[in-house]
Amino acid sequence: MSTKLRRPFEVIDYPELMRTHVPPPEYFETDYLISPEAIEARQLERLKQRAARAYQVPFFRKRWDAAGFHPDQIRSLADLSRAPSYTVDDIRKSIEQHPPLGDYQGASLENAAVDPLRVFMSGATTGAARPTLYTQWDREAGAILTARALYAQGIRPGDVVLNAWAYSTHNGAFSMDEALHRWLSCVVLTTGTGNVTSSRRQVELARQYKATAILTTGDYLLHLADVAREMGLDPKKDFHLKALPNIGDREKLEATFGVPNYQSYGFHEVQWVAIECPARKGLHVFEDAFIVQVVDPETHEPVAEGQQGSICLTEIYKTGSPQFRYNIQDLSTLLPREKCDCGSWLRRIAPFAGRADNMVKLRGVNIWPEAIGEVALQDPRLENEYFVRAVREGARDEMIAHVTTRAEAAHWDEIQRDAEARLKERFGVRLKVEVSGIDSLDAWTEVKTSPKPKRFRDER
Ligand SMILES: [Zn+2]
Repeated sequence: MSTKLRRPFEVIDYPELMRTHVPPPEYFETDYLISPEAIEARQLERLKQRAARAYQVPFFRKRWDAAGFHPDQIRSLADLSRAPSYTVDDIRKSIEQHPPLGDYQGASLENAAVDPLRVFMSGATTGAARPTLYTQWDREAGAILTARALYAQGIRPGDVVLNAWAYSTHNGAFSMDEALHRWLSCVVLTTGTGNVTSSRRQVELARQYKATAILTTGDYLLHLADVAREMGLDPKKDFHLKALPNIGDREKLEATFGVPNYQSYGFHEVQWVAIECPARKGLHVFEDAFIVQVVDPETHEPVAEGQQGSICLTEIYKTGSPQFRYNIQDLSTLLPREKCDCGSWLRRIAPFAGRADNMVKLRGVNIWPEAIGEVALQDPRLENEYFVRAVREGARDEMIAHVTTRAEAAHWDEIQRDAEARLKERFGVRLKVEVSGIDSLDAWTEVKTSPKPKRFRDER
């Protein structure tokens, strides 16, 4: 092993990187439009390479040996299902047994002098923070994927963009920063969250620098709109926003700022996976970098195309810590491969539909809190907030959906009865609904403070 210090530009062959994962805007004229055969031939080649690499990592080798799987068995994309999947619980165990990094990393701190390295941690929304080591290639390729997603949302080279995510142990703010600065030639205003730069100051900076996007949660962006109104401004006219790459209440965001919002999907360990196109018929997966499968949340077996299940993801772009059949337990649907109205053959997934590990079996029926929320809120009198609790009442499990309204209390009984009727019709079991005033659920949902609002608590 060489001990000579290498700089990022010595580690990476940039022309090769740009051929392997084409950056925007070129991407949308080239690899975004290639044929299904070309997409899948490339996936198979990269999948074989990633399998061979993952097999060198103890976490995968142990599991694969135990399951009788070997990388040589991959001869077609369908063979991917022969490899065992794993969930976040397996990663947590790995960290417990091998603190602090677990045995699932494909890079090491010892090697940092010769291969530049970064470490980021998951946001810990569902348990202890999970570290991931990234090689320089992983950072750059990941930044290209993020740049594609931001470009698809409407951000263009030369734009000034406010980055109001937290620059912390988490990946988020840095991923955006790297994508904007290195791959989109945008000027990043690193404001950080409202704790670092006050909301009034964020509004002022966005206006002074004519920012075309403010990267943060949808809820915080809507809060900035309220602050702007308090300052006597009109969020639609007095900002210069061209893009809303914010995850949140789409209808409210679009109505507030008058700019389209497209859905996207990604997570800490692998960065940006899929982005919605203007056709709005699902989210196109960046298939030069990922293979998405959807599996049954209980049996972990792949489900038929078009059926909802848990996303099981394999990345085929990294050189460091692999993710190979990671059952991330986010619910979605894999749509059949078809040519989209936008011209792309890339596979589409349905928008994020909830967490598989929140599933509750209520009198024999599998129910997800997010699905309850969706049905419960189908009433214009209700605000877009909900929280579901599973409780034990006597000998029975019950689920209670809490919803909020601006309507007067005299109407709450009727709103409750209507919502309970919708839930009974949709799920076939009786669920309780409790109505309360606006903002009354904030302490439970953490909607104003967390990028991923909480929707469920199991109190049984
Ligand atoms: Zn499309």
